[in-house]
Amino acid sequence: MPSKTLEGIKSIENFPLEDKRLFLRLDLNVPLNEAGEITDDTRVQAALPTIRYAIDKGAKIVLASHLGRPKGPQDRDKYSLEPVAKYLTGLLGKEIILVEESRSHAPKALLAGLKPSQIIMLENLRFDPGEEKNDRDFAQWIAEFTDIYINDAFGASHRAHASIVALPELMEKRGLGFLMRKEIEMLDRVRLNPEHPFITVLGGAKVSDKIEVIEVLMDRVDSLIIGGAMAYTFLASQNIAVGKSLVEKDRIRFAGELIDRAKARGKRLLLPIDHRITKDIKDTASLKVTDTAAIPDGWMGVDIGPKTEAAYAAELKRGKTIFWNGPMGVFETPEFAQGTFAVARAITETSAITVVGGGDSASAAQASGLADKFSHISTGGGASLEFLQGDKLPGVEAVRAPKRSEAVVEE
Ligand code: AMP
Repeated sequence: MPSKTLEGIKSIENFPLEDKRLFLRLDLNVPLNEAGEITDDTRVQAALPTIRYAIDKGAKIVLASHLGRPKGPQDRDKYSLEPVAKYLTGLLGKEIILVEESRSHAPKALLAGLKPSQIIMLENLRFDPGEEKNDRDFAQWIAEFTDIYINDAFGASHRAHASIVALPELMEKRGLGFLMRKEIEMLDRVRLNPEHPFITVLGGAKVSDKIEVIEVLMDRVDSLIIGGAMAYTFLASQNIAVGKSLVEKDRIRFAGELIDRAKARGKRLLLPIDHRITKDIKDTASLKVTDTAAIPDGWMGVDIGPKTEAAYAAELKRGKTIFWNGPMGVFETPEFAQGTFAVARAITETSAITVVGGGDSASAAQASGLADKFSHISTGGGASLEFLQGDKLPGVEAVRAPKRSEAVVEE
């Protein structure tokens, strides 16, 4: 089904690329370990179709991305894109020249001598203070060596930064890459016309982070399944004991109201009926399972229990569309990951369209070993939630709107 959001927006396939200077804004913001090795290459892999297409079509390619949140020049080593450039070189079997100096003549000069299908990469865009300020001068520096602008950085498209907004506003030829299109198509399917029953599974640390998305989804879903630390705030609102589990006291009322709203509208809202608990979040030795939804004093919930796993799996079987965001427990600790993996398995065993909304849930889906069984795992945590809750993504709107110079000036 064509995506409504993508109407009127050009794709990389709409431009002849041969010999053209193509600027590809990617999201290569990958986790690196102390040794500078990539620990999860999902985003690099997700960027490959667009890069390979540009190579096939003979563009002169400029790759650009941010990496982490560098605070200043002292952070250059830690946040350099060099490991990513090397890794991509290995994947593509092509040399990638890294341009270190921002706002220099280097890209222009290099591009003049570049043959079609060759690649250069700009250093971390956030090394330039203009990037996060959506600065037009910084964007102008890039525009001067760019014929065609393509945004394929879904995970960064909820940010009004220079390479995401100011730059496409300066460009006549601009559009989206394959990853962006796929992300938007899949999320539009969930957000605009989900096949029912539509079930959302929400977990993770905080209710407060997800209030807006919960409110929006509440109107659209048939069932809402809740796990993770978030669940204890909901249980507390029903006067169920939660021991020393993580609870957001100032959200208990909201959680209670939400439960009432769900009831009034005939929606199913599922909360854990048992838990895996410990005496301390770091203590795996004391791990045990509760009989009921109540957690004794001095204990904390770290995962959903086996009865909950079974109840959630049974509910998920009914689903035709399933959206999942947030782990069911402290899945980073293997002993506390069972509930999250069980839910991942249950989701992938349905015949539903299954979409995972970025961030920790994407890592959990990877860790479960079932990543290739989901219909789609978003590469953007914040971006997927903002898009789902109905916000327009600045990066999408910037390639849609008429170019500033083309806009009709009213007298
Ligand atoms: P979020 O970014 O909101 O999706 O939250 C993800 C984080 O929630 C992960 O780092 C989990 O370890 C954490 N989390 C999930 N369940 C619990 C829990 N029961 N207690 C503490 N933290 C949790």
